[in-house]
Amino acid sequence: MELHEGGHDEQHTGAHWERLAPGVARCRLPGWDATAGAVAGTAGVLVVDAGGSPAEGAGVRRGAEGLFGLPVTHVALTHPHFDHVLGASAFPGAVVHGTTGDAEELCRDAVAYGVPAGAARDAAGRLPAARPVDGEREIGLGGGRRVRLVALGAAHSPDDLVVLVPGDPAVVFCGDLVEESGEPQAGPDASPGRWPAALDRLLELGGEDAVYVPGHGAVVDARFVREQRNALARRFGVS
Ligand SMILES: [Zn+2]
Repeated sequence: MELHEGGHDEQHTGAHWERLAPGVARCRLPGWDATAGAVAGTAGVLVVDAGGSPAEGAGVRRGAEGLFGLPVTHVALTHPHFDHVLGASAFPGAVVHGTTGDAEELCRDAVAYGVPAGAARDAAGRLPAARPVDGEREIGLGGGRRVRLVALGAAHSPDDLVVLVPGDPAVVFCGDLVEESGEPQAGPDASPGRWPAALDRLLELGGEDAVYVPGHGAVVDARFVREQRNALARRFGVS
């Protein structure tokens, strides 16, 4: 693995990847503690979320490819927020699923969170075309490995997508529908009234025994997700 292009990138490669199930791993990116995931088949790797800059994205790609010895062939974006999307240009040749959102808004948010304006504009200008998921899409990665991308509509963001990896245990990448390291963030583009129902659906998809991977923070279980669902329902005054 190339580790010497910059000390910053070094942190996103091998050492910080956490194995969640056979062929499934994730890392927590420095800065905003956003999760990036990786799921391997025998033909390629699907990466979940791209980090907040092309450099972070490149680190995720190197880490995922180093971990499994296979190219990244697919990227799934859980939602159009800058810390999950602005690294998407670092995966040339991969099919990008989901939505990247509005480049202006991504830029504005990135700058508000401290990204230099030039770097934010550059990253937003290089975003690849993404294939929105309408309902559900199944992706085969070879060797019988199948991954389900399920669109849950608007809740934390206007377009929340979850990534379901069947297996033992099953792994669910939740995006920011679930956060462990802080209160779930409800910005101006959130649909709080629909959030608890999205989590009900998430729990239905993953079941009791799945490993749930939040968009920010440590891996959690179904019980944590249910408690967060109930706390959000109380916070937003919905049932
Ligand atoms: Zn978000």
